Amino acid sequence: MKTKLHLLLVSNQGSTHPQLADLLQGEGADWADVCWCRSRAEAEAALVDGSFDAFLLNPGLQDPICQDLVALVQNRLSFQAPLLVLTPDWTWDLAQEALRDGVTDVLDLSQLDRETLERAVHCAIERKRVEDRLLAYALFDSLTGLANRKCFTARLQESLAHADRTGRSVALFLLDLDFFKHVNDNFGHPTGDEVLRSVANRLRRRCRRTDTVARIGGDEFAIIATHLGGPEHIIPIARKLSDCLEEAIEVQGNRVFLSGSLGVALYPHDGRDADSLLRNADLALYQAKNEGRRTYRLFDPVLDSRAKEHQAILHDLHLALRNDEFRLYFQPILDARTGEVRSAEALIRWHHSRRGVVPPDTFIEVAESSGLILPIGEWVMKAACEQMKAWRADGGPDVPVAVNISAVQVRQGCFMDTLSRTLQQCEMNPQDLELEITETALMNLDGEQAEVPQHLTDLGVRLSLDDFGTGYSSLAYLKRLPVCKLKIDRSFVSGLPGGDDDSLITHAMVGLGNALQITTVAEGVETPSQLGFLQEIGCKQVQGFYFSPPLPADEFADWWRRWPSMASRCMDVAAYNNRRRMRIA
Ligand code: C2E
Ligand code: CA
Ligand code: CA
Repeated sequence: MKTKLHLLLVSNQGSTHPQLADLLQGEGADWADVCWCRSRAEAEAALVDGSFDAFLLNPGLQDPICQDLVALVQNRLSFQAPLLVLTPDWTWDLAQEALRDGVTDVLDLSQLDRETLERAVHCAIERKRVEDRLLAYALFDSLTGLANRKCFTARLQESLAHADRTGRSVALFLLDLDFFKHVNDNFGHPTGDEVLRSVANRLRRRCRRTDTVARIGGDEFAIIATHLGGPEHIIPIARKLSDCLEEAIEVQGNRVFLSGSLGVALYPHDGRDADSLLRNADLALYQAKNEGRRTYRLFDPVLDSRAKEHQAILHDLHLALRNDEFRLYFQPILDARTGEVRSAEALIRWHHSRRGVVPPDTFIEVAESSGLILPIGEWVMKAACEQMKAWRADGGPDVPVAVNISAVQVRQGCFMDTLSRTLQQCEMNPQDLELEITETALMNLDGEQAEVPQHLTDLGVRLSLDDFGTGYSSLAYLKRLPVCKLKIDRSFVSGLPGGDDDSLITHAMVGLGNALQITTVAEGVETPSQLGFLQEIGCKQVQGFYFSPPLPADEFADWWRRWPSMASRCMDVAAYNNRRRMRIA
């Protein structure tokens, strides 16, 4: 049995319109209940109170009231019920235009009978349902029912346009769940899905109906909050959003604890269009994650200038390899007692056409995040080997060279192949090459890459643990690692011998190295008193400006030739102190 339809009809003559009255009230019109409205205000009131299967509009298509009502119905009830226009001025052009505006059907009132109208309304309802279902697939996330990325992008554009008209602000929040991978790994994907649904519901409940909550990635959500006054309104919303993750989520008997990182950008304050707003919210999110997660960060223009600098460096780095703009500098590593040169550390410099000599701290991170460190690292390895060969060929330094290796290089599957190939091409002994890897990088290797240190030892290449003391190596881990050297980070050495903590820690690290029979190297030695302290506590090797800064290859060779004549004076700290005391006296 057919159920009776509930229709809302807006006509400027209301129920006194003769033709409509005949169609909808006369005999046989019991297929529908009609709510008659004369004006926009009446229609708005009816929309608040009731739900309707379809909307009928009667005014002439060119009548401004019709345009107005089309907009009203669309805004209020998008995706809910079809809209049919009944007009005496039917033409192909007008009908097409109306259909393009989102009207479901345009009927010619002069030709309309009761049966045709009934059929047209039923068809429109069916068509609207199918359309809505398709639209839902295209615009909503099937897991959470939230807007998807496509819908989010469209809503963001709309919200910004609306804000321009009203002079209000729009805040864009990007929320990333912290360590969500662990939820999937520990509880399985079905629980992970349930958790995402639960987060979606919590966010939806915390936001106003006019806001948009979207899921734009696996565990990434975006919230568009509209009609805001200014920046002062952001923080309460950011707190509210973070707080909604505070309480554990119960899924199938498991209690899942979550937290999130939030980045926020405000329109028009932090970006004049959707793209820049999104980019800046993303920069703020990145900062929130960098600063320990479980927090929110508002966009700060400094982030923007840093990101632009990053882009500029990245752009120039691409050219640098091709234009042969890199150089290796060398810094000696010496026996702490005798001053004998034990090895040389190769340190990269970038001779940039405009910026001059760029130190590695400025570009290594950019190279790592872009993957460019792979060709650069390969270049460094090769250049170091070739330099060693050249020195040996003309009686220059014949010490092993230590090359810094980034974690990104080791994590790449073919690291060992690249290394063996380079050694072979340059006809180098593996013993001539040392690799320096930071403590943190080495600890974070897992899977097959965790085997790399052992493969290196098997090959005969020695491994040094760089920046030792700044990571969190456990003793057990250190004992297992096949490392030959611990390079005590400069930050400890610079406080010697005065800073009590630094002295104690350095002493302990040297003791640890000696106990494990791993050579300790103190980095950044700048003064004779630092050297004296290190000699006293039994540190094996030293490196720093006190002996020599990193030098270009030819200058390093000169230094190396002159060094024996200076070594004893430099290394005999007791004599140095005596000389100084005598001068002071
Ligand atoms: P690092 O491996 O800890 O290198 C030692 C840094 O300390 C070098 O800085 C060196 O110039 C500096 N240094 C040495 N002695 C002293 C001293 O007495 N006082 C002070 N204040 N500094 C001293 P540099 O050359 O700027 O390199 C910085 C970092 O960049 C290196 O730290 C290393 O992590 C990275 N790096 C350098 N070259 C390469 C490379 O070829 N590949 C990779 N992946 N990283 C590199
Ligand atoms: Ca190093
Ligand atoms: Ca270091």
